[in-house]
Amino acid sequence: MTKLLLKSGREHSLLRRHPWVFSGAVSSLEAEALPGDVVEIVSSKGELLGYGAYSPDSQIRARVLAFGSSPLGDIQELIRERVFASVARRGSFFVDGYTDGIRLVNAESDGLPGVVADCYGQWVVCQFTSAFAERYKAVIAQALQMAVPGCRGVSARSDVDSRLKEGLELGGFSVLVGEEPPEYIEIFEGPCKFLVDVRSGHKTGFYLDQREARAQVGLLANNCDVLNCFCYTGGFGLFARANGANHVTQVDISADALSIAEKNASLLGLCHTNTDFVKADVFKYLRSCRDEGKTFDLIILDPPKFADSKAHAMKAARGYKDINLLAMKLLRPGGHLATFSCSGAMTGELFDKVLMDAAVDAKRDFQIISRTRQSSDHPVTVSFPEGLYLKGAILRALS
Ligand code: SAH
Repeated sequence: MTKLLLKSGREHSLLRRHPWVFSGAVSSLEAEALPGDVVEIVSSKGELLGYGAYSPDSQIRARVLAFGSSPLGDIQELIRERVFASVARRGSFFVDGYTDGIRLVNAESDGLPGVVADCYGQWVVCQFTSAFAERYKAVIAQALQMAVPGCRGVSARSDVDSRLKEGLELGGFSVLVGEEPPEYIEIFEGPCKFLVDVRSGHKTGFYLDQREARAQVGLLANNCDVLNCFCYTGGFGLFARANGANHVTQVDISADALSIAEKNASLLGLCHTNTDFVKADVFKYLRSCRDEGKTFDLIILDPPKFADSKAHAMKAARGYKDINLLAMKLLRPGGHLATFSCSGAMTGELFDKVLMDAAVDAKRDFQIISRTRQSSDHPVTVSFPEGLYLKGAILRALS
């Protein structure tokens, strides 16, 4: 096995069980290695620190598969074991019967760097965002099919930008094992049903990461006038309707997302008279509400990623502050604001500061009544804080 030698003093992150070896930490590669090859990661003093998958084109030159010096064994066998173990860890989801939309593999935090696998009913959809994941996608797909009860097919979405950073090509949707999924897969989540477009919907088709927040925010909606900003296929708004909201305004810039949101509302079996679907830019829409003097009891702000990197975090902070300030002004006394950031580069501290600054400018007092994070099928290993990307807070306007 090829050895990847670290520069002197660059072994600390490995010793702290962080799973990424950056190119700047690498002194040399003992022999040639192909994308996804397993290499031994060795300190400048010659100590074997672990095994990683090599990514020649990436800033993240190796992704750790195991720490320490115990032999790794056959790589395909290891992958199969890890896929099975990862699915087994979601066992309670299969038993609970609350939903059939579940993240089965959450990349580094499940020991499979760059592998995301989401299950929608009988269908599994993956994203492969590391050289390792791409190289072993057939093994991963076969293992998923065996591990998921009743699985009819495993597909891949190759249109995620982060593939480019790994030197992987962008592509479309492809079936790896089993059958072609239908155009829309219907899943259930608590009282709601959602149609998932796994070919061109966001991520693998649905925001499974907001499942727990949707349930929590829904409980605040009884008798409320609700504004659901960046609604995508209607998630938070439908939970609000299911929990007795008076009226829901669903706002998104994407006509495709809104058209699915309307179908999802029909699946809930509720009349449309209490829901508006508005195709608009939220930044402008919030201003138009302000100008028209509209107010709400519950506002949800779940924007897309405004910051891709730390360098963009400050610019993103201005965007977050803008929408949060506007929303804070539109809240009725005692009303709730559920506000989120899915930018990994936006730290929890920075997000709190944005909310604090917005509240100061809104000249109103708010209580934080809860904090949310990505759902529990998107776990984060303790040594890998980068894995926690989704943060949220539920605020109550005091006056
Ligand atoms: N809350 C949703 C997920 C939101 S994803 C859920 O629970 O499923 C973010 C959404 O923001 C996407 O649907 C995208 O189309 C929309 N979006 C992006 N920029 C926007 C803008 N400026 N105005 C309105 N919607 C926008």
